[in-house]
Amino acid sequence: MDGNSIYWHSLTVQEALERLGTDSVAGLDESEVLRRINIYGRNEIKAKVKTPLEMFANQFKSILIIILLIATLISAFLGEFFDALTIAIIVFMMAIFGFVQEYRSEKTIQALKKLAVPRARVIRGGREVEIPSTDLVPGDIVLLREGDRVPADIRLIESNDLEVDESPLTGESTPVEKDANVVLDPSTPVSDRVNMVFMGTYIVRGSAKGVVVATGSSTELGRIAKSVAETKEEKTPLEIELDDFGKKIGLIIIGIAAIVFATSLLEGWANVLESFMIAVALAVAAIPEGLPAIATAVLAIGAHRMAKKNALVRKLAAIEALGSVDVICTDKTGTITKGEMTVKVVRTFNGFCNVEGSGYEPKGRISCSGVNIENLLEMLAAHTFSDVKLVNEKGVWSVKGSPTEGALLVLAYKGLGEEGVGKAVNKLQLVKTYPFDRFRKRKSTVHIFNGKYIVVVSGAPEILVELSNTIQVGDGVKPFDNDSKKKVLGYVEELASQGYRTLGVAFKVVEAFSEEDSVENVERDLTFYAVLGIIDPPREGVAEAVQIAKRAGIKTIIVTGDHKLTAMAIAKMIGLDVDNSIALEGRDLDRMSDDELAKIIDKVTVFARVTPEHKARIVKVLKKKSYRVAMTGDGVNDAPALKEAHIGIAMGIRGTDVAKEAAQLVLLDDNYSTIVEAVKEGRVIYENLKKPINYLLTANMGEVATVFGSQLLLMPPPLEPVHLLWINVVTDALPAAALGLEPPEPGIVERPPRSAKERFVTRRKLVYYIVMGSLLGAATLLIFNMFRETSLQLARTAAFTAIALSEFGRAISSRSENQNFWKLPRNKWLLPALLASMAMQLIAIYTPLNKYFHVVPLDWWIWPAIFIAPATILIVDEVRKVLGIKIS
Ligand code: ADP
Ligand code: MG
Repeated sequence: MDGNSIYWHSLTVQEALERLGTDSVAGLDESEVLRRINIYGRNEIKAKVKTPLEMFANQFKSILIIILLIATLISAFLGEFFDALTIAIIVFMMAIFGFVQEYRSEKTIQALKKLAVPRARVIRGGREVEIPSTDLVPGDIVLLREGDRVPADIRLIESNDLEVDESPLTGESTPVEKDANVVLDPSTPVSDRVNMVFMGTYIVRGSAKGVVVATGSSTELGRIAKSVAETKEEKTPLEIELDDFGKKIGLIIIGIAAIVFATSLLEGWANVLESFMIAVALAVAAIPEGLPAIATAVLAIGAHRMAKKNALVRKLAAIEALGSVDVICTDKTGTITKGEMTVKVVRTFNGFCNVEGSGYEPKGRISCSGVNIENLLEMLAAHTFSDVKLVNEKGVWSVKGSPTEGALLVLAYKGLGEEGVGKAVNKLQLVKTYPFDRFRKRKSTVHIFNGKYIVVVSGAPEILVELSNTIQVGDGVKPFDNDSKKKVLGYVEELASQGYRTLGVAFKVVEAFSEEDSVENVERDLTFYAVLGIIDPPREGVAEAVQIAKRAGIKTIIVTGDHKLTAMAIAKMIGLDVDNSIALEGRDLDRMSDDELAKIIDKVTVFARVTPEHKARIVKVLKKKSYRVAMTGDGVNDAPALKEAHIGIAMGIRGTDVAKEAAQLVLLDDNYSTIVEAVKEGRVIYENLKKPINYLLTANMGEVATVFGSQLLLMPPPLEPVHLLWINVVTDALPAAALGLEPPEPGIVERPPRSAKERFVTRRKLVYYIVMGSLLGAATLLIFNMFRETSLQLARTAAFTAIALSEFGRAISSRSENQNFWKLPRNKWLLPALLASMAMQLIAIYTPLNKYFHVVPLDWWIWPAIFIAPATILIVDEVRKVLGIKIS
C-alpha cells in the first residue's frame, strides 16, 4: 500500500478497494484499524519540534552569556577557581529557569494544538463514526461534505457535484471539479487526478465518499512538507515589540557597562579582569533578554485557561487582539439562540395550524383550521428525510444535520407518524438535491411522483414568493397576483416580528427532469404553499453577556441570513437597543457605497438577509472607521470575512474546517457568551503581561543604578558579579512568574477597550522605570554606606540582601499599574514565591555557602536597615497611585 508504487488514480474503485483490503459499505473493523495504525503510524505530518536538549542549549545562545562564561574560565585559570565555579553554577541555574519556562509554554501550545485537530467522518464496522483525523489509516472509508478539510489522500468512491480547493497543495485557487467515476492514465500529474482528493485541501462544494490510500507523511502534502523547512510559529506583535525594546535597552546598558568597566579601572577598585567581570555580569543581569519568553509563557497559560472556558485560541497573537476588541459581529442562529428549532405555526393562504411540542421530540398535536396539511407534510418528509437524522440519546432528542431541516422532519413525524413518514419517502422517491446555501437561501429536492416529477423548495419566504407564480389555496391552485403576494408577505412579517424564524415552502410538478437542469430552471414558476414559523429561543446567559460587553465598551451587532424582523425581535429579547438603532438588509447594502455605509454603521445593530460577501464588506467598513472587529462565521464562504476581521471567530460545533482554519478563535460551544468571556480573558492576560515586565525592568534598573551610582560617587563596587547574577536569576524569577498569574483587577471589564495604538513600552513607562530604578539604587547605596565603616564585606552583604529583598516592595506594587495593592484580590502564588526567594537569600548568607558569595551572616539588628529599600519603593509607588499619577 505504498503510495509511491501504486497509482491509485489509474485503478477502478473496485480495484482500489481490493488492494486496500476494505469494503465501501462496512469499512474496516476496529481490530484491523489497530493493526494498520501500528504499520502506518498516525495520520499526521510531524512538524519538527525542538527537543528538550535543543531548548536547553538555546538558553546559552546569548553572546553576553558566552562572554561571561569565557571570562569566568579565564578567572578560573588565574586561580579564582571557586568564584568561577559559583558563577558557572548560577548561569546554569539561569538556563534551567529559562528552559523550564520555554518547555512549559511549548507543552501548553502543543496541548492546545491537539484540541484543534479536525475530525473526520468514517465508516467503521458498518457504522458512521466521527474520529480525530489523526486516527485514520489506509483503507478507511471517509465521508466528505462541503467545508471539510480533506484528512488524508483519498481515492473517491462516489462524488456529488464535488469541487475542491487545492490551493494548499498546488497554489491554484480556483476550485477543481472532481469525479469518482473516471479512471486515469498512470502518468496523470497530481493536479489533474480528478478521481482523488488530497490531504490539506478543502471541499468547497458537494459531497463525496472515498477510501484512504495514504496517510501522514506518505501523502502528497506530507512529501511537500518534508522538502519545505519547518514553518516557525510567527512571533506575536507583542513579542516583536518586546524583542525590539530589549535590543534598544540592551545597547544602552552595554554603554553603561562599558563606562563601569572604564571607571572601575580608573578609580582603581579592581584589576582588569575583575572590572571586566563586573561590567559583563551587569550587562547579563540587567539586559531584559527574557521578556519575549515571559510574554510567551503568560500568553500560553492564558490560552490554556481560555480553552477550559471553551474559547480555543489558534494563535497566541489573537489574545492580544482580543483584549482590544470593541465590536463583536455575531451570527444569530445557534450563537445568540439555542439553534434548537421547532415549527410552531403553519400558515397557508387561508388557513393555519398550531403545533404543540418543543425541541426535536417528534410528539405534539397539530391543530389546523382551513388546511389539509397531509400533502404538505408528505412533501416535507421526502424533502428532508435523507439529509437529517433524528436521534434519541437517553431520552433527549437531537438532530444530525441542519437544525432547520430537522424541525421540518419533526413536524412531519408529528402529523404523519413514523409509518406515514416512511410511506411518504417511498411515494416521493428522491432523485436530486440542490442543497441549501447562503447565497440562494433555499434548498430544493426533485422527486418522482406518479410518473412525473415534483420539485419541493424550502427557504427564505420572500424569495420563494418571488419565484412563485401560483399559490395553493385550499385544494386548488390560483394565480399568485400582487395582492396575494402582499398578503403572504404580511403573514411572514407578522411571524418574524414575533421572533419566529420563517421558512417558505413551494413546489411544482413537471413532466420532465434531467440531472443537467440548472438550479435556476428548477426553482422557477413555483406554486407557493405555506409559511412556517419556527421558534429558536435565545440561549441562557446571552442577555447578561450582552450587558457585560456593553459595560466594557463593546458593541454587539447581529449579522444574520435570517429575516430582518426575526433578527430584530431576537435582538430585543437579548437587550439590544433596537428602537434607537438601524437594522439593514443585504439588499440595502447592495445599494450603498462603502462611504455611505460608513456614515451610518455606528448606529446599526442588525444586518439581516446578508450573504457571506456582505459580511466581509461589513468588516471592511467597520475597520475603516477604526473599530477593532471580531466577526463570527461557520461556512465555507465565511473565510474571507473571518480573515479580514481583527479576530475571526469560528464555531467549533457547527463550523466547517474551512472556517476554523481561517479563524483565530474557535468557540467550542458556539456560544456568544463565550466570545465575551474570551474578550475579558484577553484583557486580563494583556494586563498580566505588564506586571512581571514592570517588576523585572525596575529591578534591573535598580541593579544598574546601584553599580553605576557607586562609581559616580567614587565608592567601591557594592555588588560583585555573583551577586548581580544571583539576584537576577534566583531571587527575581519566581515572583515574576507569580505576577503573570494575577487574578483579574477589579473593574478590568468595565474599562473602555484598549486603543489599538497603545504601545506596551511607552516613554512614560521608561521614565517610571528609570525613576524607580534610581530610587532603588539610592536606597541600596545608602544601606551600603551605613556599614562601609564597619567592614566592606558586611556592607556588601547588606547591599546584596537589600537589593534582593527590595523585590518584596516591587512585587507587591507591580501587582497593578494604577491601583493600590490593598484593593486587589489575593494572588495565591505571590507569597510562596516571595518566601522561596527569601529562603534562597537566607541560604546564601547564613550557610557555609556564604563563602562562595563573599558574604557574612547578618546580625539581627542590621535587618531593619535592610528593609529601608523595599519599604521606600513600595511606599513611593503606592503614593503615586493614590495621587492618581498613571503610568499607562
Ligand atoms: P442565520 O444567519 O440565522 O444562520 P441562515 O443563513 O442559516 O441564517 O438562514 C437564512 C435563511 O435561509 C433562514 O431564514 C431560512 O429561511 C433559510 N434556511 C436556512 N436553512 C435552511 C435550510 N436548511 N433549508 C432551507 N432553507 C433554509
Ligand atoms: Mg446559520
